[in-house]
Amino acid sequence: MATLNQGLMSLYHASAELQFSKPLSSLLKSILRGLKSGTGISKAAIFIKDESSFSLKGSAAIGLNDKKLSETNFLLTLEEESDLLRTNISPVHAANPNFEKSSLALLVEKDLELKNAELVALEIRDQMVGLLVYEKTSALLHQEILFIFSRQAALTIENAKLFAKVEEMALRDTLTGLYNRRYFNQILDYELNRAKRYRQSLSLIFIDIDHFKEINDSFGHSIGDQFLKQISQKLSSLFRTTDLVARYAGDEFVAVLPATAQEGAMILAHRIQEVLSHYEVMVRGRTLQVSVSIGVDTYESAEGIGSVTFIDRADKAMYEAKASGRNCVRSFHEVQKAAV
Ligand code: GH3
Ligand code: MG
Repeated sequence: MATLNQGLMSLYHASAELQFSKPLSSLLKSILRGLKSGTGISKAAIFIKDESSFSLKGSAAIGLNDKKLSETNFLLTLEEESDLLRTNISPVHAANPNFEKSSLALLVEKDLELKNAELVALEIRDQMVGLLVYEKTSALLHQEILFIFSRQAALTIENAKLFAKVEEMALRDTLTGLYNRRYFNQILDYELNRAKRYRQSLSLIFIDIDHFKEINDSFGHSIGDQFLKQISQKLSSLFRTTDLVARYAGDEFVAVLPATAQEGAMILAHRIQEVLSHYEVMVRGRTLQVSVSIGVDTYESAEGIGSVTFIDRADKAMYEAKASGRNCVRSFHEVQKAAV
C-alpha cells in the first residue's frame, strides 16, 4: 500500500507536469498517474462535464482502454449532479452498508467494465466541472490524497475552460459578441484562397447603419451601445451558420458568404435591408428603429483580387447605396456598370 509520503511526492510530481500548453486530456492523464502512485488505484477515469449537452464526456484514463473511454459519455441529470456533490461532502456509502448504488454508478461499471466503481464529483465553488471514477480495491485509500488529486483535476479543467474562453474572446467584439475585424480578415483570406482553389464564388456583404449618430446624439452613447448590441443579434440570426458575420467598425458590419454567387447574395442583402427597416428595438423603454445601407460584392473564380480590394469594392457599393438615398442595396457590379 502506498504511504502518505509517497502520495505527497507523487502529487508534487504531477503538479510539476501541469504545463498548460499541453492538451487537457494529457494533463488529466498526468493527474491520474499521480493518483495511481499516490493511492494505489490502478483503474481510473476522468470525465468532463459538457454544459451544453448535460453530459459527462470521457477525457482521460489509466488502466482502461483510452479509445473506448473517449467514446464513452453519460447523460447527467440535475438530481444526479446534486447527489454527487452532496456525497462529496459526506460519503454516506462508506459508513452505510445499505447504501444503494446510483444508476449512474451502475452504468459506469457496466460501460467501463469496472467491478466496484466509486464516483467523485470534481467541483469548483460548488459547481461540478467533471467526474472522477475509480475502481475501489480492498486496500485502504488515503482519502486526503484522493481529495487533493480530485481538487487538482477540477482546477485543471476549470483553467482549461477559462483559457478557451479567453481565446474565444480575442476573436470577438466585446460589445456585440460578433466576430471582430481581426478575425474577419483572417477568415476572409482563408475563404478567398479556398474559393480560388476550388473555383467557387464567394460573396461579401457590407452593412452600415443609416444616421446612427442621431441615436447617440438624441439618447446618449449608452443607449446607442445597447441598440448596436440588439441589432447585431438580429443581424446574425439572418445569416446561415456557414456565413461569418463580424463587426467591422463602429456601426459597420460585414459578412462573408462562402459558395454564394451574386444572385443569392443580393437576395439575402435585400432581405436583410427589408427586415431591419421594420425591426423595432426596445432599449430602456424606448422603441428605436433604423435602416441600413448595404453593399455587395462577389468574387467569381476567374478574377484575381485580394481581400483588401474585395472589402474595398463592397465598401464602395455600400457608399453608392448611401448616395442613392440610404435604406437600399447596391452591388459593386452595378457601380462598375454605372461608371462605364
Ligand atoms: P450614415 O447614414 O452616413 O452612415 O450616418 P451615420 O450617422 O451612421 O454616420 P457614420 O456611419 O459615419 O458614423 C457612425 C457613428 O456611429 C459614429 C459614432 O458616433 C457612432 N459609433 C461608432 N461606434 C460606436 C459605439 O461603439 N457605440 C456607440 N454608441 N456609437 C458608436
Ligand atoms: Mg452609419
